[in-house]
Amino acid sequence: MILPIVKLPAQVLRRPVEDVKFPLNKNVRRLLKDMLETVIHADGIGLAAPQIGKDLNLALIYLEQTGGPTFPIINPKITHHSKEMVKIEEGCLSMPGVYGTVARPKKITIQYLDINGEEQTITDNGWVARVAQHEVDHLLQTLIIDKLEKVTQGQELLPKYQK
Ligand SMILES: [Zn+2]
Repeated sequence: MILPIVKLPAQVLRRPVEDVKFPLNKNVRRLLKDMLETVIHADGIGLAAPQIGKDLNLALIYLEQTGGPTFPIINPKITHHSKEMVKIEEGCLSMPGVYGTVARPKKITIQYLDINGEEQTITDNGWVARVAQHEVDHLLQTLIIDKLEKVTQGQELLPKYQK
């Protein structure tokens, strides 16, 4: 089922999330399926639970169309990040139409649980690192509107998201 995506300034995007408990219950499994359908439909590359109105500590990375992996990150934590930063243009499904440059560490290590509750660790310096940082930010109630260095598109839409 395709779920509606919550847009700024909705307060659920700023609400602390709760860790997901294992084994995953039916609702969470269903939610992960729905989030996948939703991110595909929205033409996105990642989606965090608060963006579909759930205060759960989980997000989805969806990089199929760039030849990358697709997987959920549950109760994720960034455990290392490089000093080297990169500035890349980003957008957010909760702020459609606005794009801007965001500086983030180039390389990160992320620890998370998979759907079986097994701990996984990934180190990456490409798209996975980028999307994972954007999604983990969502789970910490931080959105790109808080850290845009320069708006490259959609400046006129900002006030409606900034309320
Ligand atoms: Zn986002």
